[in-house]
Amino acid sequence: MWWSCCAQVLCYLHIQYVLSLDACIIKLILTYLNTITITYVTNQYGNKRINNGANTKRSCMNLEMKLKKTYCPNVNIVHRSAWGAAAPTSVSALHLPVSLVFIQHTETPACHDPTSCKARVKNIQQYHMSTNGNFLVVEDGTIYEGRGLDRVGAHTMGYNSRGIAFSFIGSYSNSKSPAAALTAVKNMIQCGITQGKVDSAYHLYGHRDVNPTSCPGDALYHEIQTWPHYSHTKP
Ligand SMILES: [Zn+2]
Repeated sequence: MWWSCCAQVLCYLHIQYVLSLDACIIKLILTYLNTITITYVTNQYGNKRINNGANTKRSCMNLEMKLKKTYCPNVNIVHRSAWGAAAPTSVSALHLPVSLVFIQHTETPACHDPTSCKARVKNIQQYHMSTNGNFLVVEDGTIYEGRGLDRVGAHTMGYNSRGIAFSFIGSYSNSKSPAAALTAVKNMIQCGITQGKVDSAYHLYGHRDVNPTSCPGDALYHEIQTWPHYSHTKP
């Protein structure tokens, strides 16, 4: 049948195409599949993939370094533009790398799907500007970008310019956040270290460690006290 023949040719062409890509580029595509499109990588390296060898390898490693500085491959981040953030009223650059990481909770109901989570995040930005962390964390492990890794947030009085904060969306006094959200925060911090924006010897705190508040709730607070970077010494 003509279509069967056609499918075989297409399959053959596809395999040849993949095989012709340098292993390094294939690794990048697999690693960054969630954050960039294959088109991006192949457009960048479409010409180079025909000359396999040291040149391709070097170009690919340069691209990998650029990607590492820009993307967190193992974190599902919803950037500001994607959740419809309002423009910030003022922007100050963080002095990088930061050495303090604060864990908070929003003390709002949790949210469970993209539509309600976007609405919740917008609501937090609109009505709680003063507790707007660098990142807002949803129970399924999705992270909404607040001020991000580069800009001073408004989250922990007296420490905003020295650290970043992760705010778990929900109330975690009686039960800690699900594992997916905890893992996402750990991965995001690790990505910050890879990007040179978080000190590898950072100290982790709960909001209550430095400000008079019960935040991030007893259950979440007890959880983060088991994390290796949790510090009993005040910053
Ligand atoms: Zn707090």
